[in-house]
Amino acid sequence: MNHIWLTGCFLFFINTLSAQDTDQTIEQTFNPEKARSIVEFIASDKLKGRDTPSEGLELAADYAAGFFENAGVHSAFGFENYRQPVRMVYKGQPEEIIIKYQGQIMSIPGNLVHLSGADPLINSKVIIYDPQSDNLENRELENKIIIVYINKSDQLNPRELNEQSRKIERMARDANSKGLIEVFDDNHPYWSRYYSYYSRSRIDLDQSDENNDDFHHVLVQDINSVIKTAVGMEPAGELSIEISGPREEQFVTNNIVGVVEGTDRILKNEFIVCSAHYDHVGIGKPDASGDSIYNGARDNAIGVMSLLMAAENIAKYPTKRSVLFILLTGEEKGLLGSKWFIRQSPLDLSKMVFCLNTDGGGYNDTTIATVIGKRRIVSNQIFDNACEANGLEVFDGTDDTQFLFNNSDNIIFSQKGIPSVTFSVGFRGMNEEIIKHYHQPSDETETLNFNYILKFAKSFGFSLREIANSDKRLFWKEEDEFYDTGKQLYQ
Ligand SMILES: [Zn+2]
Repeated sequence: MNHIWLTGCFLFFINTLSAQDTDQTIEQTFNPEKARSIVEFIASDKLKGRDTPSEGLELAADYAAGFFENAGVHSAFGFENYRQPVRMVYKGQPEEIIIKYQGQIMSIPGNLVHLSGADPLINSKVIIYDPQSDNLENRELENKIIIVYINKSDQLNPRELNEQSRKIERMARDANSKGLIEVFDDNHPYWSRYYSYYSRSRIDLDQSDENNDDFHHVLVQDINSVIKTAVGMEPAGELSIEISGPREEQFVTNNIVGVVEGTDRILKNEFIVCSAHYDHVGIGKPDASGDSIYNGARDNAIGVMSLLMAAENIAKYPTKRSVLFILLTGEEKGLLGSKWFIRQSPLDLSKMVFCLNTDGGGYNDTTIATVIGKRRIVSNQIFDNACEANGLEVFDGTDDTQFLFNNSDNIIFSQKGIPSVTFSVGFRGMNEEIIKHYHQPSDETETLNFNYILKFAKSFGFSLREIANSDKRLFWKEEDEFYDTGKQLYQ
């Protein structure tokens, strides 16, 4: 008994020492004025909300690369000046889309949306698929164009419609069909919603050299049931889809990537990814005061500052493991920077042993840091210790807020098996205080509590140090959906 007590006491002593070291190390570099000046610059009107792509985003990229350089963080993997180019495309609707059946025009401009398909003209036999009663698996789909009637009477809600659409598209692509046309009943209750959502221009990753996507996916509203009447349920004729005019415009923005090599001979081959997106949503609808710049101080200038401050700290006092710092582009456009980083990774994925991400929409409790995903990770006491050392408590969300795990860049790493969490400023759940600033022009530096923000950033830096120095790697809990993928990745 005595022996056990002594061992316990001794271990406690060591832990305390290491946490104290970390605390002192953090205090050395986390300068409040510097932290404030980073947030002030990244969220300033000069950067005009850092839309992807924009001049403001480039100014933020220059600033971050300059900061890395001054701090002694290294550019690596052959990237020029810390930049990993991310190729993107701006996708608009084609100028014209025409659907013909047996040579007869079946569509009215303004009543269809084109979701995919590069080939300017396809021509093929048609097959009708009724998802309520049919089974596509035993039908001959190759080189056919599949038509699905979206009937009002099926009474599917938008979520069910999306699921159905994705499922049919997957089957059709697998079977080498030429295309899929979803024909919505005239005055279908959800048509206008679909139309306004999908006819908008959007930004995506440029995958043109990986696959030339010739599969046409079109949604069309069947005005006066013209299509249903002509094509019917057992079509015998040929259908064509013709598109013309510009659809894609390519451009490049950058992930800003820096590395600090670890000090341990063995552990330096393992990398902790420390990530934060530096883009935001740009300029938009003005608020009541006439302000139209969406500054994104919370989302995500605080995250950028926390990452830069942590990078400066680790460059000065390196940890046992190496740390890979990534400021990600295009998060607001659909996690594009992280998707590209993983797809074109300069480093074997199995060498990235953890992803500590920071992102947030706003805070409504300045006594906590919200660590989304903490509950999924073993040895998660690290986060409690880090926050406690800086006068904060950890909140790992309610069951309702776990969806946030799937809504920031961390998820892209996790899907590959890499354990991850996202540090968010004290968020207890949606309320007025969050809505007031979330993706609004009022998300400005002047509305921040810097006393709190600094505690948050230090807790983040503290966690990073502890994870990068820890003898044991942090990993998924056994019951987690990513546990098996992780096991495979690191086997
Ligand atoms: Zn964000």
